[in-house]
Amino acid sequence: MALDLVIRQGTIVDGSGAARYRGDVGVKDGRIVEIGRIRASAQRTVDADGLIVAPGFIDGHTHMDAQVSWDRIGSCSCWHGVTSVIMGNCGFALAPCKPEAREWFARCLTAVEDIPTEAMLAGIDWTWESFPEYLATVDHLPKAINYGAYIGHSALRMYVMGKRALSEKASEDDLARMVAAVQEAIRAGAMGFSSSRATTHVTPDDTPVASRIADWSEVDRLVGAMAELNAGIFQVGPDISGGEAQREFLARLKQVAVESGRPVMFGTLSSRQGKSPNPWTYQLDYLDECAAAGARMWGQATTRSINALFTLKSYLPFDVLPTWRQVRSLPLPEQKRRLADPATRRQLVAEEARMKPRGDVFQGGGAATTDPRKPDYDNLFAMQGVDWNDPSVAQLAAQRGEHPVEVMLDLVLANEDQVFVQPLVNEQPDHVLGMLKHPRTLATFSDSGAHVCQEMGSSLQTHLLSYWVRGKQAFTLEAAVRKLTFDNASAWELNDRGLVRTGYRADLVLFDEARVKPAMPTVETDLPGGARRLVQKAEGIAAVVVNGQVTLEQGEPTGAVPGELLRGPGARAA
Ligand SMILES: [Zn+2]
Repeated sequence: MALDLVIRQGTIVDGSGAARYRGDVGVKDGRIVEIGRIRASAQRTVDADGLIVAPGFIDGHTHMDAQVSWDRIGSCSCWHGVTSVIMGNCGFALAPCKPEAREWFARCLTAVEDIPTEAMLAGIDWTWESFPEYLATVDHLPKAINYGAYIGHSALRMYVMGKRALSEKASEDDLARMVAAVQEAIRAGAMGFSSSRATTHVTPDDTPVASRIADWSEVDRLVGAMAELNAGIFQVGPDISGGEAQREFLARLKQVAVESGRPVMFGTLSSRQGKSPNPWTYQLDYLDECAAAGARMWGQATTRSINALFTLKSYLPFDVLPTWRQVRSLPLPEQKRRLADPATRRQLVAEEARMKPRGDVFQGGGAATTDPRKPDYDNLFAMQGVDWNDPSVAQLAAQRGEHPVEVMLDLVLANEDQVFVQPLVNEQPDHVLGMLKHPRTLATFSDSGAHVCQEMGSSLQTHLLSYWVRGKQAFTLEAAVRKLTFDNASAWELNDRGLVRTGYRADLVLFDEARVKPAMPTVETDLPGGARRLVQKAEGIAAVVVNGQVTLEQGEPTGAVPGELLRGPGARAA
């Protein structure tokens, strides 16, 4: 039998956690059909000598719902070896949506996730109304990675209730229509139902998003709708505004999980923000308690701090101040001339003193960039590499005997791509490691596709491999690959992905374990309509294979678009 593709002489880390071995991988019709010493001829051969051959990485927490329309390759995730993503997290989705509500949906996504409205209006051919129609659109779009999607609570509520969704309790009629739509979505292949109780999730009018207006009995009904079909995951953006609020949220979530029997996922975070935050271990103990009570629950963990990023070409923490606003509205060369001018600088530095103080309100990447507080310069770092050991602006200011604002101005004038990093959560590496090591957490939660000019989480996979595996040796490569592949495939029931085994889909990533790491983030203007976004690529990823076709070689797209729609178990049963 002639094969479509043979990957020769690689070191196979198969995703199960088992020890590596040398071998060839043969692919036919999008599946792995042979492993070992392959003698059959193949249309295409890739030399993997010296490279690791692993299953493609799976990221279950993204917001690529809009981007899938215009970004064929699936950046920035694709550059980090990701071959499958789940989108529609936290209740935000583009379906179901009535035609007259499209612009409002786009503006809500701008408000919460910093996806530019102009990019969405220019880049989306908005042909759908129902959730199944959206899935059909995604199914047909040319794409280089695989996508699954949740039906989102805020979208669904707006669809059924209109503007009442932003202020009112659902009526019995509203609930019946939402239940029907959730079941229709699950049967069409939704991965589940997503929602949010996060205080950081607000509309363009700074009011709570629709899912936060829902009371818990509504959540019970909608998760119960999935339970009736015995299919679908409930993903929810957690309330992390403070100790008491978070504890109440978790207690009620436990009840949903135990009563419905559906898998439940929420973000586990270590936070110093908010009102008397709970220790990070509280959520891990909680996962164990829920399991003991009969819940099937996962915490979504990331592999490092979640950061607001500041640059000259995107946001700086001072942009809301009057002189700053005036200077920052100028073309870049003119800005740089003004930022170097001594009189202007004195004014810019002086204005910083009048910034709003930090309070005990939890700020995510959105508010941290668009409604910034006076920076804590001990918690604002001048990025010099990707090794999580950058100097703080406070340290640099002390060394140079300068005001922190002057330090930042000097740095951006010397390098217009200088990035400043403000950790929002997960500041402590040992907390992150503790969360990653817990058996009930998943390494996911990139938020890829969201916060396009505010955060950059898409590199969490290459960060795990470079920082935690190669640098700290906190995981074997085999264990880390399993976290990015088989564990996530199991949680989302992607039953023929996540392992290098015969019969499995040929989603593969070939990388150099001695070199793999994230590249430095930059600001690019490559969104539809020329809008800007943060971009982060990777080093050491030699090739990516999706459904048997090579999609990336040395970071360059091949033009192949073999990505598929991932349908959830509810569609397979139907
Ligand atoms: Zn999210």
